[in-house]
Amino acid sequence: MVCTFCGSETQVINSRHQKRTNSVWRRRKCTVCEQVFSTSEQVDYEKSWIVQYTGAKGSQPGQPQPFIWDKLLMSIYASLGHRPTALPDTLGLTKTIVGTLGKLVGQDGGLQSAAIATISVDTLQRFDKVAATMYRAYHSDAL
Ligand SMILES: [Zn+2]
Repeated sequence: MVCTFCGSETQVINSRHQKRTNSVWRRRKCTVCEQVFSTSEQVDYEKSWIVQYTGAKGSQPGQPQPFIWDKLLMSIYASLGHRPTALPDTLGLTKTIVGTLGKLVGQDGGLQSAAIATISVDTLQRFDKVAATMYRAYHSDAL
């Protein structure tokens, strides 16, 4: 990675594995202008996980699609809209849900859409029963 200020080579001066987000944080220093900046390496879920739509209630299975973190995040946020702390709650719960889903992903990266809905509603249920009810209402076709 080159310097964001002058484009010269950089060196890593500090590095930490962030267990909770399964990411690696690095502090870099430019070898020329000595500017310091941070980088973060994390899993590219869109390129790693494929959602398989099982076609709940007798409908046809949908085309497999990349797993989109923001789509899950928006569905959780929509369920938490009644809470004054909806945004930070959403960020934390989405990480928890993705962490649980990581244990269910097949070696081919496949993930059932029904598993996403089930894990989401179970996680919401433990956190806020109203939110779980909202999620069920929005995703009744997947549960
Ligand atoms: Zn520089």
